[in-house]
Amino acid sequence: MSLNVLVIGAGMGGLTAALALARRGHRVAVVDRVAELRPVGAAISVWSNGVKILKALGWARRWSRSAARCSA
Ligand SMILES: Cc1cc2nc3c(=O)[nH]c(=O)nc-3n(C[C@H](O)[C@H](O)[C@H](O)COP(=O)(O)OP(=O)(O)OC[C@H]3O[C@@H](n4cnc5c(N)ncnc54)[C@H](O)[C@@H]3O)c2cc1C
Repeated sequence: MSLNVLVIGAGMGGLTAALALARRGHRVAVVDRVAELRPVGAAISVWSNGVKILKALGWARRWSRSAARCSA
């Protein structure tokens, strides 16, 4: 069953949810209270759950090409 989904907030979470839902065949619209999305911060830190999501979306390989590993 295909649903009409409204995602409120076009941050990392909202856009990831929108992409995952669209890939499942749902009709997705994304809205945000700001007119323009601008970068914040210096980098994107992706931890283990984030890597799982990237793998599920088929982006892990592309992402890893421009990523640097961080060791604790
Ligand atoms: C100053 C700063 C620096 C940071 N630096 C880094 C960094 O270097 N590396 C890193 O990995 N992480 C960094 N972070 C953390 C990172 O920004 C967050 O972890 C991440 O953005 C969370 O994503 P999110 O989608 O949950 O929320 P958000 O990115 O906050 O997205 C939420 C979106 O919802 C929208 N919204 C909120 N309320 C409404 C509403 N009522 N109606 C419509 N739209 C709404 C907002 O405008 C926003 O676009 C930083 C955070 C800050 C504040």
